[in-house]
Amino acid sequence: MMHKNYITLLLVVLCFKVHSQSAQKSTLIKNITIITASEEKVMHQVGFVLVKDSKIAYVGKEKPEILGSYDELDGKGKFVTPGLIDSHVHLANTAGFNRQLQKEYPELVDAYFEQLPRSYLYHGFTTLIDVNNYNPKRINAIGQSPLHPDIYTCGNQVQVMDDFMMEMEEYPVDVRYQFPFLYDRYNRQIVFPDSIDLASHTPKRIISGIRNQGGIGVKLAYEDEASGLIVSWAKPGIGIIRELVLEAQKYSMPVLLHAPSLEGHEFGLKTGVQIFAHGLWNWSADPKDYGNTILTGQHKKVLSQIGQKQSGYQLTFRAITGEEDLIENNFGADKHLENVYPKGYLKLLQTTEGDWGRKKILGRAEFLKKTNPPFYDAIKSGHVNDEEIWPALYKIYKTRLNTVAKFLAENNANFILGSDTPAMNMFTNPPGYNGFLEMKHMYEAGIPLSSIFRAATYNNAKAFHLEEEFGSITRGKIANLLILNSDPLLDVDAYNDIDIVILQGKIIERTQLSALNY
Ligand SMILES: [Zn+2]
Repeated sequence: MMHKNYITLLLVVLCFKVHSQSAQKSTLIKNITIITASEEKVMHQVGFVLVKDSKIAYVGKEKPEILGSYDELDGKGKFVTPGLIDSHVHLANTAGFNRQLQKEYPELVDAYFEQLPRSYLYHGFTTLIDVNNYNPKRINAIGQSPLHPDIYTCGNQVQVMDDFMMEMEEYPVDVRYQFPFLYDRYNRQIVFPDSIDLASHTPKRIISGIRNQGGIGVKLAYEDEASGLIVSWAKPGIGIIRELVLEAQKYSMPVLLHAPSLEGHEFGLKTGVQIFAHGLWNWSADPKDYGNTILTGQHKKVLSQIGQKQSGYQLTFRAITGEEDLIENNFGADKHLENVYPKGYLKLLQTTEGDWGRKKILGRAEFLKKTNPPFYDAIKSGHVNDEEIWPALYKIYKTRLNTVAKFLAENNANFILGSDTPAMNMFTNPPGYNGFLEMKHMYEAGIPLSSIFRAATYNNAKAFHLEEEFGSITRGKIANLLILNSDPLLDVDAYNDIDIVILQGKIIERTQLSALNY
């Protein structure tokens, strides 16, 4: 009796062992062109990559010795790269649905968020950094879906007292100071209600709050008159932001600055922020610069310094061209959208009800005309119709971004890929696909393909101190890999020519991730 029990037990143990071994089966990718970046160079060579469990176990020219059984994947004629990183996303925003639509069609919103992680993976994005719009409920739900990218956040965006962000929320005085905000003790012009304990609004407290939310970076905004808006907000001061940067540095947290103007870029350099969260698309507050697209001496000086300091630089073309697509182009007919938006969701976007974004943007022209006529006239010059003013403004922004990108590329800038997906709930910033479109814009601006590759892999991992796990094909790192049918160092479209996504060692055919299959 005892003996029989023992045998049964032994069999159970054996079965368990065999089973767990099969789950750990290694995969050898052979004869594949390995593309990966290091600090010094971008490597491009044919060889072998061994994936074991969730890690990269070997990379090299020679075939490794492998104990035990393993699967083989012949990569002849194909290319393996690290999984891509997009370091500027807003995961809790709903691309295409404003609050009204979200309220009316909750089941479509659920379908959108269910597909969201797969849409990023479909386009090769295996790591995402949500820079604000911190929404733990949404982000945790994405993290619990069966297939999802690794997600990091910067917690809540830092609001510096009465800054642009706070002003945009239009909170009345008795409410606006109830939220965490950074108190600028060098600016005594703002009078706070007595009930506010300013000691709990120091850089130390703000950084500690972000760390409690699990943030790995810190984001804040600087906007000025160059935007064409009449400044009714307080601009953050240099002194307090320097203190914030130093406090964040203690925990290796980079500070990201939204500052799309010349003055904003100068502010970023003076305060020592590590990352610029947008490209320079607002020239200066001088009315003669409103329609200018030529780099002045000062622009060149500032951009060269950004190159020299190797500050991280996110161009976020899509924040601009996404809006342009909303009003100018027939973006809704792009077949690629079928892979990222669930069917019913996409159908609604193509109705008049779903077209709210266009009206919203065109309404802004009217606002500008009323609030800042000199700005309005400068943009309008040469254009007869009022309707043409907004497209004209986008042309200016885009020309500037192209010029800035090219100049920075010539000055050895440290580009990091950030697509700002989705900015303003725009459907023209589709999850995953938007990152690919961002890379296309970078290429069209004249940034070399090797720099784009670095921006989406190694540079991004390094800027956020994630390089021990991600960003290159290196032994010991997480096995997040892409197998591409074409060479991303020869053709930017290779990033949309993905065959297989390897996620934490798990091999997934790209088509399995498409919204068309759900
Ligand atoms: Zn953003």
